[in-house]
Amino acid sequence: VGVNQVSEQNGRGSSLLEVDDVFAEVVSLVRRGEAVTRPALSQVTGLRRAVITQRVEQAISAGLIEDSMLGESTGGRAPRQLRFRSEAGAILAAMTGTQHLSVGVTDLAGNILAIHQQPWDITAGPQLALDELAAIMDRILADQEIDAPVWGVGIGVPGPIDFTTGRPVGTSLMPGWDGFDIRRYFEDRYHAPVWVDNDLNVMIQEEWQRGGGRTNPETDGNIILIKVSHGIGAGILSRGHIHRGRNGAAGDIGHMPNNIDGSVRCRCGQSGCLEAIAGGWALVRDATEAAKTGQSAYLDERLTAAGVLTEEDLSEGARLSDPTCVELINRSATLIGETLASLVTFFNPGTVYVGGIIPSAGDMFLVGVRRAVYQHALPLATRDLQILNTALLPEDGVIGAAKMSIEQLFHPETLPIWLPRTSPAGIGGLLYAPFDGSDPHGTVTDTTPSRGRILPASAARSVRR
Ligand SMILES: [Zn+2]
Repeated sequence: VGVNQVSEQNGRGSSLLEVDDVFAEVVSLVRRGEAVTRPALSQVTGLRRAVITQRVEQAISAGLIEDSMLGESTGGRAPRQLRFRSEAGAILAAMTGTQHLSVGVTDLAGNILAIHQQPWDITAGPQLALDELAAIMDRILADQEIDAPVWGVGIGVPGPIDFTTGRPVGTSLMPGWDGFDIRRYFEDRYHAPVWVDNDLNVMIQEEWQRGGGRTNPETDGNIILIKVSHGIGAGILSRGHIHRGRNGAAGDIGHMPNNIDGSVRCRCGQSGCLEAIAGGWALVRDATEAAKTGQSAYLDERLTAAGVLTEEDLSEGARLSDPTCVELINRSATLIGETLASLVTFFNPGTVYVGGIIPSAGDMFLVGVRRAVYQHALPLATRDLQILNTALLPEDGVIGAAKMSIEQLFHPETLPIWLPRTSPAGIGGLLYAPFDGSDPHGTVTDTTPSRGRILPASAARSVRR
């Protein structure tokens, strides 16, 4: 359905205009800075000026955008610039790892207002671990004296997630978390809509949005992002859309078989997983053994000092050229590169990004991965391939998680639900529709009983593009 048809279809009932696709499009164009004057909006959408003006006035009265300074004149009178009111609401966001936690609050443009990072133990189970996370959110909200209401919550979790329900699925990464209602936990606490996704799905979108010049033009949004920290995971972007798979299991490559030793026990309960040889926790296990048997003075010293070794110790050791650390990290790079070679042959990405604590040891990891990929992958699949270190920092996970919520909030299918109530704050049950259309669980679940009386949403949704 083209935008012109949209305006004609909805032109009859003016009361519906504020919640149609055109309205959502206008708000998004201003929000992303893609068109910030009325003439520019008219040009980009191909819609008549009167239609645009009407939507803009409605967005202004809804408090989502405002008139700002004068824009550039293209001949006549200079048009007024429009500004998205990113301060209208706050987003609580967190990127959780197995052992680390980043929590922050952002405005509606994803700008961080406050952030806190600390160690975390996901194996404490969902109740204890999330209580700790939420306590940090509470403290940030109080300390920063953030007046804006919480409009949304975004959480990244290191394991497979059913994006439509916000629940972890399977037990491969997080014992005790399978099926836990993370969404409900935060909905109850902050009375705002909540979106939960796999950490790599959050990160790969952020990487893709920022990639710009770094990414092959030919990549066309076909990207794999691999993270090697405590465990191993991957995110998959297919033509710019996240590929989650039928059950949210796509990219959980840490539990694919390794080709060294099928008898090594994995933390998921199975044996012979890639992680059990090449993951951070496996490297720490073998480094600890090496320290105890006198193979590395460096590791022995670290172990004696701290009582335990960590992935950071290994990474640091490799930078200091400790032979054991270098060998372990090279082993991980080669094995992961071999697995990646199969993925590259199968998926043919334009860019593979590598990130996490283990690759941060320096170029040796990237070099090892590249060597294995080019050796084992189909030549055609590597012809235009580039393999790069990710440029993302830990705080970018928080930004990515916040943006996930923001994109969902302003999606043409979601905006009509909360806009008539002026804000999504205080509404626990919203339409939780995936915004990128890539999820096979595309079923829209209406959990807001009174919606029908407030808004004839069927009218707005009937013009879905
Ligand atoms: Zn496993």
